[in-house]
Amino acid sequence: MAKADLDWENLGFAYRSLPQRYVSNYANGTWDEGGLTSDSTVAISECAGILQYCQEVFEGLKAYETADGHIVTFRPDLNAARMYDSAAYLEMPSFPKERFLEAVDAVVKANRDYVPPYGTDASLYLRPFIFASGEVIGVKPADEYQFRLFATPVGSYFKGGIKPIRLCVSAFDRAAPHGTGHIKAGLNYAMSLHAYMAAHAAGFDENMFLDAATRTHVEETGGANFLFIKKDGTVVTPKSPSILPSVTRRSLVYIAEHVLGLKVEHRPVAFEELNDFAECGLCGTAAVISPVGSVTHGDQVIAFPSGMEHMGPVLQKLYDTLRGIQLGTVEAPEGWIRKIC
Ligand SMILES: *Cc1c(COP(=O)(O)O)cnc(C)c1O
Repeated sequence: MAKADLDWENLGFAYRSLPQRYVSNYANGTWDEGGLTSDSTVAISECAGILQYCQEVFEGLKAYETADGHIVTFRPDLNAARMYDSAAYLEMPSFPKERFLEAVDAVVKANRDYVPPYGTDASLYLRPFIFASGEVIGVKPADEYQFRLFATPVGSYFKGGIKPIRLCVSAFDRAAPHGTGHIKAGLNYAMSLHAYMAAHAAGFDENMFLDAATRTHVEETGGANFLFIKKDGTVVTPKSPSILPSVTRRSLVYIAEHVLGLKVEHRPVAFEELNDFAECGLCGTAAVISPVGSVTHGDQVIAFPSGMEHMGPVLQKLYDTLRGIQLGTVEAPEGWIRKIC
Protein backbone atom coordinates (compact mmCIF):
# COMPACT_ATOMS: atom_id res chain seq x y z
CA MET A 1 0.00 0.00 0.00
CA ALA A 2 1.11 3.56 -0.68
CA LYS A 3 1.41 6.30 1.89
CA ALA A 4 -1.31 8.95 1.81
CA ASP A 5 -0.38 12.15 0.01
CA LEU A 6 0.10 14.41 3.03
CA ASP A 7 2.65 17.13 3.79
CA TRP A 8 4.28 15.01 6.54
CA GLU A 9 6.75 17.73 7.56
CA ASN A 10 4.00 20.25 8.31
CA LEU A 11 1.19 18.29 9.93
CA GLY A 12 0.84 20.23 13.17
CA PHE A 13 -1.38 18.86 15.93
CA ALA A 14 -4.92 18.87 14.58
CA TYR A 15 -7.70 16.35 14.10
CA ARG A 16 -8.02 14.83 10.66
CA SER A 17 -10.79 12.32 10.08
CA LEU A 18 -9.20 9.09 8.79
CA PRO A 19 -11.01 6.25 6.98
CA GLN A 20 -11.53 3.91 9.98
CA ARG A 21 -12.07 4.00 13.75
CA TYR A 22 -13.06 1.32 16.30
CA VAL A 23 -16.32 1.37 18.27
CA SER A 24 -17.77 -0.91 20.93
CA ASN A 25 -20.97 -0.21 22.86
CA TYR A 26 -21.81 -1.26 26.40
CA ALA A 27 -25.41 -2.09 27.35
CA ASN A 28 -27.16 -4.60 29.61
CA GLY A 29 -23.97 -5.17 31.52
CA THR A 30 -21.67 -6.16 28.62
CA TRP A 31 -19.53 -4.74 25.85
CA ASP A 32 -20.70 -5.77 22.39
CA GLU A 33 -18.39 -7.40 19.86
CA GLY A 34 -17.27 -4.04 18.45
CA GLY A 35 -15.46 -3.36 15.22
CA LEU A 36 -14.23 -0.82 12.71
CA THR A 37 -16.49 1.83 11.23
CA SER A 38 -16.05 4.65 8.74
CA ASP A 39 -18.57 6.86 10.60
CA SER A 40 -16.67 9.62 12.39
CA THR A 41 -19.78 11.02 14.07
CA VAL A 42 -21.51 10.05 17.31
CA ALA A 43 -25.28 10.30 17.74
CA ILE A 44 -26.43 10.27 21.37
CA SER A 45 -29.37 11.43 23.45
CA GLU A 46 -29.36 15.05 24.60
CA CYS A 47 -29.55 13.57 28.09
CA ALA A 48 -26.48 11.29 27.75
CA GLY A 49 -24.36 11.04 30.89
CA ILE A 50 -21.33 12.52 29.14
CA LEU A 51 -23.29 15.69 28.31
CA GLN A 52 -24.83 16.11 31.76
CA TYR A 53 -22.27 14.93 34.33
CA CYS A 54 -19.09 14.54 32.29
CA GLN A 55 -18.52 10.79 32.65
CA GLU A 56 -15.57 10.28 30.31
CA VAL A 57 -12.03 8.92 30.42
CA PHE A 58 -9.42 8.85 27.68
CA GLU A 59 -5.93 7.80 26.66
CA GLY A 60 -3.29 9.05 24.23
CA LEU A 61 -0.59 7.00 22.51
CA LYS A 62 1.23 6.93 19.20
CA ALA A 63 2.15 4.54 16.40
CA TYR A 64 5.51 5.04 14.69
CA GLU A 65 7.25 3.75 11.61
CA THR A 66 10.61 2.33 12.65
CA ALA A 67 13.96 2.59 10.86
CA ASP A 68 13.43 -0.87 9.34
CA GLY A 69 9.92 -0.07 8.05
CA HIS A 70 7.69 -1.70 10.66
CA ILE A 71 4.80 0.01 12.40
CA VAL A 72 4.88 -0.19 16.18
CA THR A 73 3.26 1.17 19.30
CA PHE A 74 5.10 1.98 22.52
CA ARG A 75 3.95 0.19 25.70
CA PRO A 76 0.22 0.22 24.81
CA ASP A 77 -0.39 -2.25 27.64
CA LEU A 78 0.25 0.56 30.11
CA ASN A 79 -2.37 2.75 28.41
CA ALA A 80 -4.83 -0.16 28.51
CA ALA A 81 -4.20 -0.65 32.23
CA ARG A 82 -4.42 3.04 33.04
CA MET A 83 -7.70 3.42 31.18
CA TYR A 84 -9.01 0.37 33.01
CA ASP A 85 -8.29 2.10 36.32
CA SER A 86 -9.56 5.51 35.18
CA ALA A 87 -12.92 4.05 34.14
CA ALA A 88 -13.36 2.16 37.40
CA TYR A 89 -12.74 5.36 39.38
CA LEU A 90 -15.55 7.17 37.52
CA GLU A 91 -17.95 4.22 38.04
CA MET A 92 -17.77 3.33 34.36
CA PRO A 93 -17.34 -0.20 32.97
CA SER A 94 -13.65 -0.83 32.24
CA PHE A 95 -12.77 -1.94 28.72
CA PRO A 96 -10.92 -5.29 28.75
CA LYS A 97 -7.18 -4.70 28.36
CA GLU A 98 -6.70 -7.36 25.69
CA ARG A 99 -9.51 -5.82 23.64
CA PHE A 100 -7.95 -2.37 24.02
CA LEU A 101 -4.76 -3.72 22.43
CA GLU A 102 -6.72 -5.40 19.63
CA ALA A 103 -8.55 -2.13 18.92
CA VAL A 104 -5.24 -0.25 18.73
CA ASP A 105 -3.84 -2.80 16.28
CA ALA A 106 -7.01 -2.80 14.16
CA VAL A 107 -7.18 1.00 13.85
CA VAL A 108 -3.47 1.34 13.04
CA LYS A 109 -3.63 -1.40 10.42
CA ALA A 110 -6.80 0.00 8.83
CA ASN A 111 -5.21 3.46 8.55
CA ARG A 112 -1.63 2.38 7.91
CA ASP A 113 -1.24 4.68 4.89
CA TYR A 114 -1.53 7.55 7.36
CA VAL A 115 1.34 6.48 9.63
CA PRO A 116 3.96 9.15 8.90
CA PRO A 117 7.18 7.87 7.31
CA TYR A 118 10.27 7.21 9.40
CA GLY A 119 12.50 10.26 9.62
CA THR A 120 9.74 12.89 9.62
CA ASP A 121 9.44 12.91 13.44
CA ALA A 122 5.68 12.80 12.88
CA SER A 123 3.49 9.95 14.15
CA LEU A 124 -0.01 8.50 14.15
CA TYR A 125 -1.71 9.72 17.32
CA LEU A 126 -4.28 7.34 18.83
CA ARG A 127 -7.12 8.53 21.01
CA PRO A 128 -9.08 5.83 22.85
CA PHE A 129 -11.92 7.03 25.09
CA ILE A 130 -15.01 5.81 26.94
CA PHE A 131 -18.03 8.02 27.53
CA ALA A 132 -21.48 7.63 29.07
CA SER A 133 -23.95 7.38 26.19
CA GLY A 134 -26.92 6.31 28.34
CA GLU A 135 -29.49 8.82 29.58
CA VAL A 136 -29.04 10.23 33.07
CA ILE A 137 -30.88 13.08 34.75
CA GLY A 138 -30.80 12.14 38.44
CA VAL A 139 -27.13 12.00 39.45
CA LYS A 140 -25.87 8.43 39.07
CA PRO A 141 -23.63 6.45 36.73
CA ALA A 142 -25.18 5.83 33.30
CA ASP A 143 -26.23 2.33 32.16
CA GLU A 144 -24.79 2.59 28.65
CA TYR A 145 -21.33 3.56 27.37
CA GLN A 146 -19.27 3.73 24.22
CA PHE A 147 -15.60 2.86 23.77
CA ARG A 148 -14.21 4.56 20.68
CA LEU A 149 -10.68 4.77 19.31
CA PHE A 150 -9.71 7.04 16.44
CA ALA A 151 -6.36 7.94 14.93
CA THR A 152 -5.01 11.14 13.44
CA PRO A 153 -1.56 11.88 12.01
CA VAL A 154 0.34 14.54 13.97
CA GLY A 155 3.51 16.44 13.20
CA SER A 156 6.73 16.84 15.09
CA TYR A 157 6.09 18.53 18.42
CA PHE A 158 9.19 20.63 17.95
CA LYS A 159 8.79 22.27 14.58
CA GLY A 160 11.77 24.52 14.07
CA GLY A 161 13.84 22.85 16.80
CA ILE A 162 13.51 22.11 20.50
CA LYS A 163 13.38 25.34 22.49
CA PRO A 164 12.98 25.54 26.27
CA ILE A 165 9.65 26.90 27.44
CA ARG A 166 8.67 29.30 30.23
CA LEU A 167 6.31 28.26 33.01
CA CYS A 168 4.46 30.11 35.72
CA VAL A 169 3.16 28.74 38.98
CA SER A 170 -0.60 28.74 38.61
CA ALA A 171 -2.86 30.64 40.97
CA PHE A 172 -5.35 27.80 40.42
CA ASP A 173 -5.23 24.14 41.46
CA ARG A 174 -5.33 21.21 39.03
CA ALA A 175 -6.31 18.38 41.35
CA ALA A 176 -7.69 18.11 44.86
CA PRO A 177 -6.14 15.73 47.40
CA HIS A 178 -8.15 12.49 47.19
CA GLY A 179 -9.70 13.78 43.93
CA THR A 180 -9.32 12.79 40.27
CA GLY A 181 -5.78 14.01 39.51
CA HIS A 182 -4.42 10.48 39.11
CA ILE A 183 -6.94 9.41 36.46
CA LYS A 184 -7.01 10.47 32.82
CA ALA A 185 -10.44 12.09 32.59
CA GLY A 186 -11.66 14.93 30.40
CA LEU A 187 -13.05 16.66 33.49
CA ASN A 188 -9.49 17.41 34.71
CA TYR A 189 -8.83 19.19 31.43
CA ALA A 190 -12.09 21.16 31.40
CA MET A 191 -11.15 22.75 34.70
CA SER A 192 -7.53 23.39 33.62
CA LEU A 193 -8.50 25.55 30.64
CA HIS A 194 -9.04 28.73 32.62
CA ALA A 195 -5.60 28.39 34.22
CA TYR A 196 -4.08 27.64 30.80
CA MET A 197 -5.60 30.73 29.19
CA ALA A 198 -4.52 32.87 32.14
CA ALA A 199 -0.92 31.62 31.81
CA HIS A 200 -0.94 32.36 28.08
CA ALA A 201 -2.39 35.82 28.59
CA ALA A 202 0.49 36.50 31.00
CA GLY A 203 3.05 35.41 28.38
CA PHE A 204 3.86 31.89 29.64
CA ASP A 205 3.76 28.60 27.77
CA GLU A 206 2.39 26.40 30.54
CA ASN A 207 1.42 26.24 34.21
CA MET A 208 3.25 24.54 37.02
CA PHE A 209 0.63 23.32 39.48
CA LEU A 210 1.52 22.96 43.15
CA ASP A 211 -0.17 20.57 45.58
CA ALA A 212 -3.60 21.96 46.37
CA ALA A 213 -3.46 21.32 50.13
CA THR A 214 -0.29 23.22 51.04
CA ARG A 215 0.91 24.93 47.85
CA THR A 216 4.47 23.99 48.78
CA HIS A 217 5.20 20.97 46.56
CA VAL A 218 5.47 20.53 42.80
CA GLU A 219 2.77 18.43 41.12
CA GLU A 220 2.68 18.65 37.31
CA THR A 221 1.44 20.80 34.41
CA GLY A 222 -2.00 20.42 32.84
CA GLY A 223 -0.87 17.44 30.76
CA ALA A 224 2.73 16.44 31.51
CA ASN A 225 4.83 15.25 34.47
CA PHE A 226 8.06 16.91 35.64
CA LEU A 227 11.59 15.57 35.51
CA PHE A 228 14.38 17.48 37.26
CA ILE A 229 18.11 16.86 37.02
CA LYS A 230 20.33 17.67 39.98
CA LYS A 231 23.79 19.15 39.48
CA ASP A 232 25.32 15.70 40.15
CA GLY A 233 23.16 14.15 37.38
CA THR A 234 20.57 12.52 39.66
CA VAL A 235 17.08 12.38 38.14
CA VAL A 236 14.34 13.64 40.47
CA THR A 237 10.65 13.20 39.75
CA PRO A 238 7.80 14.41 41.99
CA LYS A 239 5.67 11.90 43.85
CA SER A 240 2.09 12.64 44.89
CA PRO A 241 -1.17 10.70 44.83
CA SER A 242 -2.75 13.43 42.66
CA ILE A 243 -0.18 13.26 39.82
CA LEU A 244 -1.22 11.37 36.68
CA PRO A 245 1.11 8.36 36.26
CA SER A 246 2.71 9.26 32.90
CA VAL A 247 3.85 6.32 30.77
CA THR A 248 6.65 8.50 29.38
CA ARG A 249 7.88 9.46 32.84
CA ARG A 250 7.87 5.86 34.07
CA SER A 251 9.77 4.82 30.94
CA LEU A 252 12.36 7.60 31.26
CA VAL A 253 12.94 6.73 34.91
CA TYR A 254 13.56 3.11 33.94
CA ILE A 255 15.98 4.18 31.19
CA ALA A 256 17.79 6.52 33.60
CA GLU A 257 18.31 3.73 36.11
CA HIS A 258 18.78 0.65 33.96
CA VAL A 259 20.19 1.91 30.68
CA LEU A 260 22.11 5.06 31.55
CA GLY A 261 23.07 4.09 35.10
CA LEU A 262 21.84 7.33 36.67
CA LYS A 263 20.52 7.71 40.19
CA VAL A 264 16.77 8.33 40.43
CA GLU A 265 14.72 9.81 43.25
CA HIS A 266 10.92 9.52 43.10
CA ARG A 267 9.72 11.57 46.06
CA PRO A 268 7.84 14.73 47.03
CA VAL A 269 9.65 17.78 45.61
CA ALA A 270 9.37 21.09 47.48
CA PHE A 271 9.10 24.18 45.29
CA GLU A 272 12.09 25.62 47.19
CA GLU A 273 14.32 22.89 45.77
CA LEU A 274 13.96 24.22 42.22
CA ASN A 275 16.90 26.51 42.85
CA ASP A 276 19.17 23.47 43.23
CA PHE A 277 18.32 21.79 39.92
CA ALA A 278 20.43 22.01 36.76
CA GLU A 279 17.74 20.94 34.28
CA CYS A 280 13.97 20.74 34.14
CA GLY A 281 11.70 19.07 31.60
CA LEU A 282 8.09 18.07 31.01
CA CYS A 283 7.35 14.57 29.85
CA GLY A 284 4.41 13.06 28.03
CA THR A 285 3.47 11.19 24.88
CA ALA A 286 3.13 14.38 22.81
CA ALA A 287 6.73 15.59 23.03
CA VAL A 288 8.53 12.86 25.04
CA ILE A 289 10.46 15.66 26.81
CA SER A 290 10.06 19.42 26.47
CA PRO A 291 12.79 21.35 28.20
CA VAL A 292 11.80 24.08 30.67
CA GLY A 293 13.97 27.19 30.80
CA SER A 294 12.38 29.05 33.68
CA VAL A 295 9.61 28.97 36.27
CA THR A 296 8.06 32.20 37.53
CA HIS A 297 6.31 32.29 40.92
CA GLY A 298 4.94 35.75 41.67
CA ASP A 299 7.98 38.01 41.45
CA GLN A 300 10.47 35.16 41.85
CA VAL A 301 12.00 33.80 38.64
CA ILE A 302 13.93 30.52 38.69
CA ALA A 303 16.12 30.19 35.60
CA PHE A 304 17.63 26.74 35.18
CA PRO A 305 21.37 26.61 34.40
CA SER A 306 20.61 24.69 31.16
CA GLY A 307 19.36 28.02 29.76
CA MET A 308 16.83 29.10 27.13
CA GLU A 309 18.57 27.75 24.02
CA HIS A 310 18.91 23.97 24.39
CA MET A 311 17.70 20.95 26.27
CA GLY A 312 20.16 20.16 29.08
CA PRO A 313 22.65 17.32 28.46
CA VAL A 314 21.08 14.71 30.78
CA LEU A 315 17.55 15.27 29.50
CA GLN A 316 18.91 15.17 25.95
CA LYS A 317 20.46 11.76 26.61
CA LEU A 318 17.18 10.48 28.07
CA TYR A 319 15.26 11.89 25.11
CA ASP A 320 17.60 10.37 22.51
CA THR A 321 17.45 6.95 24.18
CA LEU A 322 13.66 6.84 24.41
CA ARG A 323 13.21 8.08 20.82
CA GLY A 324 15.74 5.52 19.67
CA ILE A 325 13.77 2.76 21.38
CA GLN A 326 10.54 3.95 19.75
CA LEU A 327 12.13 4.15 16.30
CA GLY A 328 13.98 0.87 16.59
CA THR A 329 17.54 2.24 16.57
CA VAL A 330 18.15 1.48 20.26
CA GLU A 331 17.43 -1.93 21.75
CA ALA A 332 14.13 -1.88 23.65
CA PRO A 333 13.60 -3.36 27.11
CA GLU A 334 11.54 -6.57 26.98
CA GLY A 335 7.89 -5.95 26.08
CA TRP A 336 8.11 -2.23 25.33
CA ILE A 337 7.50 -2.34 21.60
CA ARG A 338 4.37 -3.88 20.08
CA LYS A 339 4.93 -4.60 16.41
CA ILE A 340 1.71 -4.17 14.47
CA CYS A 341 2.87 -4.74 10.91
C1 LIG B 1 -1.68 12.09 29.73
C2 LIG B 1 -1.13 12.93 30.83
C3 LIG B 1 0.25 12.97 31.12
C4 LIG B 1 1.29 12.28 30.27
O1 LIG B 1 1.16 10.90 30.28
P1 LIG B 1 1.84 9.99 29.16
O2 LIG B 1 1.32 8.65 29.45
O3 LIG B 1 3.31 10.09 29.32
O4 LIG B 1 1.40 10.54 27.84
C5 LIG B 1 0.67 13.72 32.20
N1 LIG B 1 -0.22 14.42 32.97
C6 LIG B 1 -1.54 14.42 32.69
C7 LIG B 1 -2.44 15.20 33.57
C8 LIG B 1 -2.04 13.68 31.63
O5 LIG B 1 -3.34 13.69 31.38
